[in-house]
Order: sequence, then structure tokens, then C-alpha cells
Amino acid sequence: MMNAFNDLMAFQRETEALAQVAGRLGWDQETMMPRGAAEQRGEEMAALEGVLHARRTDPRIGDWLAAAKAPDAAGARAVELIGRAYRRTALVPARLAAEIARVTSLAQGIWAEARARDDVALFLPTLERVVALIREKGQALAEGGDAYDALLEDYEPGATGAALAAMFAEMRPRLVSLRAAVLGAAFQPAPLQGRFAPEGQLALARQMADAFGYDWGRGRLDLAVHPFSSGSGNDVRITTRTNEGDPFNCLYSTIHETGHAGYEQAIDPAHLLTPLGQGVSMGVHESQSRIYENQIGRSRAFTGWMFARMKDTFGDLGLADADAFYAAANRVHDGHIRTEADEVQYNLHIMLRFDLERDLIAGRLAVADLEAAWNERFLKDFGHAVGRPSQGMLQDVHWSAGLIGYFPTYSLGNLYAGCLHQALRRDLPGLDESLARGDASPATGWLRARLQQFGGLRPPEATVEHACGFAPSAGPLLDYLDAKFRAIYRL
Ligand code: ZN
Repeated sequence: MMNAFNDLMAFQRETEALAQVAGRLGWDQETMMPRGAAEQRGEEMAALEGVLHARRTDPRIGDWLAAAKAPDAAGARAVELIGRAYRRTALVPARLAAEIARVTSLAQGIWAEARARDDVALFLPTLERVVALIREKGQALAEGGDAYDALLEDYEPGATGAALAAMFAEMRPRLVSLRAAVLGAAFQPAPLQGRFAPEGQLALARQMADAFGYDWGRGRLDLAVHPFSSGSGNDVRITTRTNEGDPFNCLYSTIHETGHAGYEQAIDPAHLLTPLGQGVSMGVHESQSRIYENQIGRSRAFTGWMFARMKDTFGDLGLADADAFYAAANRVHDGHIRTEADEVQYNLHIMLRFDLERDLIAGRLAVADLEAAWNERFLKDFGHAVGRPSQGMLQDVHWSAGLIGYFPTYSLGNLYAGCLHQALRRDLPGLDESLARGDASPATGWLRARLQQFGGLRPPEATVEHACGFAPSAGPLLDYLDAKFRAIYRL
């Protein structure tokens, strides 16, 4: 029986290694690949995906799972995770999986064109097909249970639509009222203005990654259109972008991706190339990027250091002092775009998407009525209208890619970051003195010791509870946002 366990883990290790190769091809495609290689790369990726699919559905896995006897808790957890993935793969008919892959890969191109042309009608027939296929997948996975809950398992195991709806119901009234108070305040911080050379931004971005302990010996920083991080273990790469008018975009994207990458770099090497060797869920992953980006990276102490580094690099910034810089880095402004949203408004963007996609999967909302439902809800929560579809339901790639159930993990990440920040401040009373010197290592050390090193050892919520010493809830995030933004806006 020990042989079955060892055989299973050896087989899994090779699958994980191949999956890392696929991920690295994806990284290459977004950073280095010559344009002319696109078609050939598609064929290369499809070949590798075919190999991976065959391995993930290999009937020997079923035999090994039935006989495997894990030697310890980590081994038992690995067997559990392999078993779950194997059962879920088996529940989705091969015909359906292939059709989803085919339709979503076409849909992303159609979505991009529809967004560029602001033409919802161009996208609707494709989106209808995607939603129908993903609903069918959810129903197959749910085995009579709730289809949306079954889809959530891909991104946030253990989360349910009902629990997330309750979380959002608690958050929404406080966020709506904080948003109104902040935008209506007499004092409004000045934005950062000017032109900032890309070379200077990238040099600063490297200093930001340094401040949070990114390991350059096992990673690298490159440019990409949409920043992301990629890889696990000893090869975890980050990307960023520069916008001459908005250096915060580059710096905070870099800090955000450093959070994702730092999590992967910190996982116990004993878990390398096992199901425990990567971040446990999208929500927990996002908590690591958000706490770096927002609670720490946009703190008064850290922005004080950032202000001095910005002046070293770019000269006078046209802002009176470090307090003005702190306010500029946290400025709340009206907008339509989720990815450009500030801490106060971000979760409102997610709630809107969560409610709509849950209704789509439940069949309570028709794709044909999605645009009207989006625009009505946006007006209600944000107080201003959606001007054109690219500011509304066409702004995000997720639905075209079949990623339904993904959006709420962003807010869960924010909620977890709020809890982790409260616990971390409890344990590190002198943190601000370090942050003011551009040294986030006490926070990074705390996160590594309490959360990151364990990878997938515990389920997502238990991972956060173990780190904090209390059960996660929305309270810490909401209290933090209230205190921070009421002070900045002098309310
Ligand atoms: Zn992220």
C-alpha cells in the first residue's frame, strides 16, 4: 500500500513538472515570444495540454488512490487533493471539456474585438454559448447540488454562493456609505501629476520588490501588457508595466505581484511539485498580494519612504509633503473600471459581478438582459451611469474565458488581507518603524511563518484562521477602511 502512495506521488510529480512547463510557455507568450510564433505556440500548448489531460485522467490514479496509505498528514492532504481533482475531471464529460476549451479560446478574441468596438451584440451569442457550457459543467460537477457552488470549487474550495452572499450583504452597506462620505468630503487630495520616465519607474519597481523580500535568485521581472506572476517553487516570475502619466500603476502592480510571487517562493521546499506546493486558493493568494499592495504598501509609513525614493528618482513631485503623497496614493475617485478601482470601491465592483454571474448560472438572468442588469446595478451602487459597454459589462476578460466563480475570490482576498493585517499589527507593534525605512521584512517574515510556508496543507479558510488565530470575517477589513479613509478625508 505504501507502494501505491509512492507510485501516485511519483506520477503526480511528473504531472506537476509538466504543468510548470506549460505555465512557463504561458509566461513566455506574454513577455518574450515573437509575434510570428503565435500559431505554432498554439499547437505546442495544445500538444502539452493533451499530455496533461491524459495524465490527469489516467485510470491508474483511481487504482493508486484506492490503495494509497499516506505516511503523514502532508501525504494524506496530497492524496485528498489528487483525489478531488481526479473525481472532478471524471465528472465532466470529455466532449464537454473539449467544447469549453474550443469555445472559450475563440470567445476571448471575439470579446476583445467587441470591447474595442463597444459592440455588445457582437459578443452576446458567444457569451450565451459560454454561459450554457459552464452551467452544464457546473451541473455535472454538482451531482444534483448547486451548480455555482460546484464552479466555485475550482477557485476557492469550500466557498459557497450563500456564504459569499452573506459576506457581501455585510460589506455592502458600510462600503456604500463610506464611498459616499469620502467622495462628498470637503477635503479632496490632489492627484500625482507629471511625466515619469519608464526607466525610473522600473528602477523603483525593483526597489519595491526588494522591500518586500522578493528573491531575485529564483525570479525575474519583465514587462507585460497585463501584469501577472507565474510559477512555483524555485522559478517564480513577476511582470509589470509602465504608464508615463501614472507611476503608481507600475509600483503598485509590482508590489501586488511580489505578494503573489513571495507566497509561492516561501512554500516549504518539501512540498515542491506536489499538490501542496502552490498557493491553496485564489482567495488566499489574493490576500497575499493585497496586504502588500494596500494595507502595507499604501500605509502612511511605507509611502513616506516611497515619497523620498520618488523624489530621488524624479525630482520635485509637485506635492507638498509625505502626507500629501500618502493621500495621493490612496485617492478615491469616480470611475467605471474594476482594475483601476481604489480600496473603498473595489469590492462594490465585485459584488455586482458576483450577483450577476450567480443569476446567470441559476438561470434567473438571461444573457440578453445582462447589459441592462449591469447598468442598472452600477447606477444604484456608484451613483453615475455606464457610458459605453467597454466601461460596463465588456470590461473584464473573465466571462469570455469561462471563468465564472472567479470574481468573488478577489473580495475574499481583501477580506482575508484585512484579518491578516489586524493579526500582524497585533504581533508586530513596531512595524511602522521598519516600513518607514522601506523594510517590510518583519511583515514578510510573519506571513511566511504563519501562512505562506504551508502552501496547500490546510483548506483555504483554515489556512487564514491558523495564521490569524481567529476565524476570518469582514469586520477587520471594514474597520480598517473606515479608520483609514475617514482620517485621510478628514471626516
Ligand atoms: Zn492578484
